[in-house]
Amino acid sequence: MNSDIEKVLVSEKEINEANERLGKDLTEEYSGKNPLFVCILRGAAMFMMDLIRHVDIPMEYDFMDVSSYGGENTDTTGDVKIVKDLDTSLKGRDVVIVEDIIDTGFTLDRLIKLFETREAKSIKIVSFLDKPARRIKQVHVDYIGVQIPDAFVVGYGMDYNEHYRNLPYVGVLKPEVYNAK
Ligand code: 5GP
Repeated sequence: MNSDIEKVLVSEKEINEANERLGKDLTEEYSGKNPLFVCILRGAAMFMMDLIRHVDIPMEYDFMDVSSYGGENTDTTGDVKIVKDLDTSLKGRDVVIVEDIIDTGFTLDRLIKLFETREAKSIKIVSFLDKPARRIKQVHVDYIGVQIPDAFVVGYGMDYNEHYRNLPYVGVLKPEVYNAK
């Protein structure tokens, strides 16, 4: 295990199990619909690439980069900025938003409203992690991988100051890692 990690919250085995289950559910729901999976960069990149291996129907994907956290900050601002927009039109599409984690809910709330204005036929959300204790905006998440307690997590695509995204599990950092910065 990486020496900066205090505790593993979601192991590789649990990640694989969650992806298999979610992939199966999405395959059933979107059979015959050619859904568009929208990966929210950068945190959800690893999750999406694992998830779609278990989605056994014709589908397409695109990427969008939004940011709600800035610099050294580990608290949310409620502000969401589009850093890179989609290349694909959402008009008439069955859209599946793929997120790494839902925390306060601001990011997804804003994205749903935006996608509605782009005339998507349907919009559903799959989030690998859910931190319900921190919710401010009530957002309906259709598919959840794993529910976690209120802790700032890294790994499996998620970062602290752009590091730790490559860890194959989800973990909590040791407090001294924050204090050292
Ligand atoms: P929300 O808008 O729901 O508060 O936050 C959504 C985004 O904040 C996530 O997509 C993710 O990028 C970031 N985020 C929220 N909680 C965590 C966390 O515990 N660890 C990391 N690395 N990012 C988080």
